[in-house]
Amino acid sequence: MKYCKKCLQPDTRPGSFFNKEGICPACDYYFNSNLKADWDERFELLKIEIKKYKNKNSHFDCIIGISGGKDSTRQALWARDKLGLNPLLVCLAYPPEQVTLRGTNNLSNLINLGFDVLIWTLQPITWKKALKSGFLNDLNWARASEQAIISSVPQIAMKYNIKLIFWGENPGLQLGDMNTAGKVGFDGNNLRNMNTVKGGKLDWMIKEGFKRNDLIAYRYPTIREFDKANLQIIYMGWFWKDWSIINNGMFSSTHGLELREDSFENTGDLWGCFSLDEDWVTLNQMIKYYKYGFGRVNDYCNEGIRHGTMSRDEGIYLVENYEGTISEKYIQQFCEYIEIPVSLFWKKVKSIVNKDLFYIDKKGKIKKKFKVGIGL
Ligand SMILES: [Zn+2]
Repeated sequence: MKYCKKCLQPDTRPGSFFNKEGICPACDYYFNSNLKADWDERFELLKIEIKKYKNKNSHFDCIIGISGGKDSTRQALWARDKLGLNPLLVCLAYPPEQVTLRGTNNLSNLINLGFDVLIWTLQPITWKKALKSGFLNDLNWARASEQAIISSVPQIAMKYNIKLIFWGENPGLQLGDMNTAGKVGFDGNNLRNMNTVKGGKLDWMIKEGFKRNDLIAYRYPTIREFDKANLQIIYMGWFWKDWSIINNGMFSSTHGLELREDSFENTGDLWGCFSLDEDWVTLNQMIKYYKYGFGRVNDYCNEGIRHGTMSRDEGIYLVENYEGTISEKYIQQFCEYIEIPVSLFWKKVKSIVNKDLFYIDKKGKIKKKFKVGIGL
């Protein structure tokens, strides 16, 4: 395992390759493209592009998939107040056992800010079964729900005959998931190549005993359906010079966004602004850390180092001390929901620990073999 020479991205991120100088794709993009970008030109290009979507017939101009979090709140305000569009906001909401009060308050905040918000909630038995099988079979409870969250937006766009979808960040450019690599903000239709979307295929769920009729929201529309509906996805993040976790969080919290109050020792959420509508994502971040050697603290620090708001040494300190940390209470809640004992949770987690990067000591604790910033 090697670290990027500039930030703390390890070369273990799936679908991510370092260049010859040992720089990760996200740094390469940031230093070679983002810093040299002509932001006024990008904005002008966007203004020209969206003209054709402005609807004169008292209809929505665009659709934005939202959770009510830092990115979606800022995107909704930007689309309306900066671009002059009339957006329909669509939220695929978590079931009552999973959603946080903070999450529902943040959705109410968007409604109070004057938006039309369409909330789609899914049949809870399939949802719970999908979370359970995602965890037990793949140690990723979110694999079906993420697919549904992403797929529901183009589905609703088609039903409402809306042609333009705004998406936040390009996972290829801003995170380094090269499966979705595109060069500009207008490349959003390649979102279907994201790991999470699986090209819209549901075979893996059918194999696990789910019925196609119960999976309507989980299906990402085909390329043919996209073409027929003339759907265009645009990555909004590509047009913002100051797109970042911390900037989006600060902007949205001054517009009513409620942040996470639990300590980062319990959540690994350094600025308290990630996945605010639910708390189990912390489990997935910890599991990701044991699989690949990085999680959410790493993502925070990489961005801070790149933007110059944090030194690499400060990042190393934070990742060393807080990556993979989690409060037992979230594990307990999750296990109660999917109806498994906590002991089974840990047995499963320990079964996937990357043995090149970690070892399990005599007390059963997972310990890392690598040094943050240096590697193995
Ligand atoms: Zn990097």
